[in-house]
Parts: sequence; structure tokens; C-alpha cells
Amino acid sequence: MIEAKYSEQTWYEATADRGAQRQQVSGRIEADVCVIGGGLAGLTTALELARRGTSVVLLEAKRIAWGASGRNGGFVSNGFAEGMESVAARVGLEAARALYQLSRFGTEFVRREIAEGDPSIKMGEGWQGCIRYSNSEEKRAGIAAMARDYGQEMQFFDVAETRARVNTARYFQSSYDPSAFHMHPLRYALMIMDKAERAGARVFEMSPALSVTKDGNGYRVHTAQGEVRCRDVVYCVSSLDRTIHRLTGRAILPVATYVAVTEPLKQDVIRTRSAISDSRRAGNYFRLVDEDRLLWGGAITTRVSEPSRLAERMKGDMVSVFPQLGNPRIDYAWAGLMGYARHFMPLIGTDGQGQWWATAFGGHGMNTTAMGGILMARAIAAGDDEYKRFAPFAPQWAGGAFGRVGVQAGYWYMQLKDRLDERRSGKAA
Ligand SMILES: Cc1cc2nc3c(=O)[nH]c(=O)nc-3n(C[C@H](O)[C@H](O)[C@H](O)COP(=O)(O)OP(=O)(O)OC[C@H]3O[C@@H](n4cnc5c(N)ncnc54)[C@H](O)[C@@H]3O)c2cc1C
Repeated sequence: MIEAKYSEQTWYEATADRGAQRQQVSGRIEADVCVIGGGLAGLTTALELARRGTSVVLLEAKRIAWGASGRNGGFVSNGFAEGMESVAARVGLEAARALYQLSRFGTEFVRREIAEGDPSIKMGEGWQGCIRYSNSEEKRAGIAAMARDYGQEMQFFDVAETRARVNTARYFQSSYDPSAFHMHPLRYALMIMDKAERAGARVFEMSPALSVTKDGNGYRVHTAQGEVRCRDVVYCVSSLDRTIHRLTGRAILPVATYVAVTEPLKQDVIRTRSAISDSRRAGNYFRLVDEDRLLWGGAITTRVSEPSRLAERMKGDMVSVFPQLGNPRIDYAWAGLMGYARHFMPLIGTDGQGQWWATAFGGHGMNTTAMGGILMARAIAAGDDEYKRFAPFAPQWAGGAFGRVGVQAGYWYMQLKDRLDERRSGKAA
């Protein structure tokens, strides 16, 4: 496993109740299915399997949702980490439409689970996507293409409407997606664990799977103090373990990204409770959370340790967009690790021998992990083959350390392009 040295002191941890730590695996346990990894991909798989009457064990190396699932931005929206234009270029429009529909299904699953479980987990409706350079035609064309090709309805806001909601001279036009929402991701993950346990899943924490060996028609999943004997194994470890399953481990790149949360603010610059992002390639995204704190996310690197002076850096980004905020105190700042495949699409598949995987959800995992978990459970419990829609996005070698260097170089290039776009727009404005 990657030993990512990331802060445990997130705002989410401070505002969620984890309850008692679940037991560690000890001795021999039998189950139909063993799910490895207790992020949202693994949790949703376990929940949906248990709901279908399958006996399932979930192994989490640390605490549930310790990885990206419990420390992300909390934005839930349709689509994937890869843009739909690129998806359609690869698989054709009809197949891209079917994939988009699956991603929408993931969004609606999350919405429903929250509504039926704990509505307070949802923290706001809608997503406003702002551009940092002026280009009405481009924004309108993007909105029209999503409506025409995928039935995704969005509104267009001109500069005045954009700034009435988000008061900064940095932003020009924006789109508003009413089908998106934002939430408390750790409380959501804990709720899914709770539902999975009530449906019969057995959840183990502090129980890293160390290896998996074939055993007759099934598998043995070995941990430090025991093993799980099962018919099927589902790998949901993202980029946090690149050795437990070689095929997907070689195909996934760890990419770090960052979040900061301010003290409660008295401000009049962000006048909406919806989620907001801007067109920086690696994204600035933010939202108001409880007590009018500003939760701010952005930047990507390939480091697996938290950068020094992280809070100061995040504050720098914040006040470069909203100088009116002055010098807000940062109460929390943390990193998280995402997993990306080279094609930026999830890896969802099987070897046909009882090993399954649902991973590499990148920076767009809140809806797609739900979708992936449902596809896994339907395939294993009912023989459904809809997961095969992801066959064109098979695991490919991600380039090891060279791949990491490539990601970093690509990011610097994107930063440079952002600056140029903005400077051009500044001249035009
Ligand atoms: C800072 C940040 C902000 C983000 N913001 C958003 C957002 O706003 N919206 C959005 O849609 N997506 C966002 N994402 C992406 C999203 O969080 C991820 O795509 C998603 O959570 C991935 O879920 P997962 O279950 O695949 O992986 P993870 O949540 O990383 O879970 C993997 C789990 O596997 C466990 N594990 C690893 N190895 C083993 C082993 N050998 N045995 C047992 N367990 C093991 C790990 O401990 C971990 O808990 C963000 C990500 C980050 C990091």
C-alpha cells in the first residue's frame, strides 16, 4: 500500500461521528464475495450485493472512507473525469450516451440514498461552472452540445448574472447545472456502511488485504491475522495499493489534490449555496458549508506527502479570486489521493475467473463510484453484463514513475495555458 502521509484532521472528520471502530479480521472467514477497499466504490458494491442477498465481507486497510471518499470536495454531478467529447470520439456517440446515462444513474442513486437515509448529508443544490476568460459563444456552445447529445439541461449566466452570485472580477460567464448537488462525503460514506451492515454485509477495519491466492474454485484473501475464503473478489483500492491486483495496479496513477476550509466568514462575495468551480484546468472549486465556512479545493500534484505550508498556498488561491476576503484564517487543510487511468475513465471489469475491479474514478467519483458498485453487484449477483460498456476503457500500463512525471508536466502545461487564457481575456475586458 502507498503510505500517504495525509492529515487526519479534516473538516469532515471534525463534523462526522464515526462510531466504534469495526473489528479486524482474525482467523478464517467465509463469504461469497470479498470486497477489498472501503471507499465509496467498495462500500456501494458491498451494500448492493448485500441487498441482493449475497454474503459479502468488506476489508478496509484503515478506517472506512479514509481515502479520497471521505476527504473530497463533495460535488455530485453527472459525467466522468474524462470529458464527454473525448469519450464520444473514442466509442461513438451512441455508446457515449449510454455511458453518460449510467453516470446519471450514479448521481440519482446518491440522491435517493441520502433522501431515504439522512437528508442533512446534502448541503446544497446545483453547480455553477465559471470561466476565467470572456467567451460567451464557447460557453453557450458547450451548454447546447450537452443538451443536444446527452439531454443534460443547463442554464447560461452572462457576466452580470455570474457576478451577482459569485462576486469576483476574475469570472466572466458561467453555466448552471441544476441536476448537481453537494454533500458531506464522509457522513455519506458512513451512512452507506451502516446501510450495508444492516443489509448483512460484514465490515472489517484496520485489515489490509496483503495478498490474494487462488483456492480451488475461489480465492483466499490474506490479512495479517486471518483470511477470507470467497468465490469472488472485488478490487476497489484506487491508487492506494498498486500491488494487490497487478493488472489494475499497473494501469492506475496516483494524483494528489488539496482542500482547505476557512474559519466561519462574514462575507458578501459568494451569494449562492450551490457548488462553484472555475475553468482552471486542474480546477478551483468551492462552496459554503456549515457556519458560512468556505471549503476550497484545487491543484493537483503527484506527491504522496502533504506539501509544506499547504494552508497558506490554498489561502493564496482563494484571495487571488476573492481579494475582498482579506486574510481569512484556515482552520483545516488536507490532501487526498485520486486514481487515474491513462484514458481518464474508470476501470470496471473482470478476468472472468471471479476477480472483478471497479477503480480509477479520478476526480469525478461521487456519482461514478455509486454506478461502479451497482454494476459490480448486478454482475456478480445476477449475471448482468452492463459493466461491459466500459470494455473500451480497459486497463493499460500507466507508465510507472514516468507516468507520474508526465502527469506533473501536463499539469504545469495546463497552468501555463490558464494564465495565457486569462491574460488574453484581461486585455479584451
Ligand atoms: C481532495 C479530493 C477532492 C475530490 N473532489 C471530488 C468531488 O468534489 N466530486 C467528485 O465526484 N469526486 C471528487 N474526488 C474524487 C473522489 O473522491 C474519488 O474518485 C472517489 O472517492 C474514489 O473512491 P474509491 O472508493 O475508488 O477510492 P478511495 O476512496 O480512495 O478508497 C480506497 C480505499 O481502499 C483502501 N485500501 C487500499 N488498499 C487496501 C488493501 N490492500 N486492503 C484493504 N483496503 C485497502 C484504502 O484505505 C481506501 O480507504 C475528489 C478526490 C479528492 C482526493
